[in-house]
Amino acid sequence: MHEMSIAESLMDQIIDIAETNHMESVAEVELETGHLRQVIPEVMREAFLAVTQGTIADGAKLIINEVEPLAACRQCRREFTPQIDDFLCPQCRQADVDILKGDEIILKSVVGN
Ligand SMILES: [Zn+2]
Repeated sequence: MHEMSIAESLMDQIIDIAETNHMESVAEVELETGHLRQVIPEVMREAFLAVTQGTIADGAKLIINEVEPLAACRQCRREFTPQIDDFLCPQCRQADVDILKGDEIILKSVVGN
C-alpha cells in the first residue's frame, strides 16, 4: 500500500505550509492525483486519517481530484491518453512518449484557520 508513504510525505508538506502561514489548524487539503500513480481514493483517505491523527491537520477534510493522464509521442508529437500498461502512440505505433500529466501527486491547496 503505497498510499501510506504518499500520505506521510504529504503530511510533511502540509505541516511546512501550515507553519509558514501561521495556521492554528488545517481545515481542508486538496490533492491532485495522477491516474498513472494508481492512488485509490478510499485507501488514500484512510492513510490521510492515520497520519493526521493528533497533528495540526487532525479532522481536516481531504479533497482528491483524479487527473486523466496525457502523453505526447516523441516521434510524431501526437498527444493522447495512455493506459497504465499501454503507452503506444495511436498514430505511429511507437512506445516512445513523454508523460505530460497523470504521473504525479500534487498538493493543490491547504486551507487553515
Ligand atoms: Zn506517434
